[in-house]
Amino acid sequence: MEATFHPPTIHPEVHLGASILVVEDESAIQELIALNLTQAGHEPLLAANAQEALEQVRESLPDLVLVDWMLPGLTGVDLVRRLRASERTQNVPIIMLTARAEEADKLMGLESGADDYITKPFSIRELNARIKAVLRRRAPQMTEDPVRFKDLLLDPGTHRVSVRGEEISLGPTEFKLLHFFMTHPERVYSRTQILDHVWGDHVFIEERTVDVHIRRLRAALEPSGCDEILQTVRGSGYRLTSLP
Ligand code: CA
Repeated sequence: MEATFHPPTIHPEVHLGASILVVEDESAIQELIALNLTQAGHEPLLAANAQEALEQVRESLPDLVLVDWMLPGLTGVDLVRRLRASERTQNVPIIMLTARAEEADKLMGLESGADDYITKPFSIRELNARIKAVLRRRAPQMTEDPVRFKDLLLDPGTHRVSVRGEEISLGPTEFKLLHFFMTHPERVYSRTQILDHVWGDHVFIEERTVDVHIRRLRAALEPSGCDEILQTVRGSGYRLTSLP
């Protein structure tokens, strides 16, 4: 996913409202993390064990999962393996929380598919920095880094899109949709995957909704000629491509 353009922005902040599922059985730690996430502008979702986490994820795909290693029942590692084994959740960013005594287990945590791990006790500063770094790497559409693709420039910070300096006006959903595609170019995404990534909580949203917003996005891009880079891949979904 290195096709994106990352200028040296001074304060690239993560978008407000990243939904973060916290899987932690110790309620004091869970509350502390939740409070901190809220203060950092995220939306914490809470689960006390792996089973609860899997149920939550079935309903709505979070932007990131924080998993404690030691959980009653299925361990954090088991949970990570399950998330990575399912097509829907295989790319969700995951950070594992481990106690210092479990140092040797860290490797296993990473091998199981976690993107990063944090050793307890950790500072709130460290937690925030790790979350930001993992989101930037795994879910660049969640950050405010400006993105360039072909002639398109999208700046989440100012909520502006332009083509060769000419500003394009987009609705909020079309903006999110374009942001997602620009941070994930050259890959085909099904309507369900697009709903997962752009809408997040979408159990009651029909797949046709995606087509409606794609149509609106294309219409907005048409005057600049950029609508053609957003392709329909018959039977599969949509793709942003630089190829004709
Ligand atoms: Ca625990």
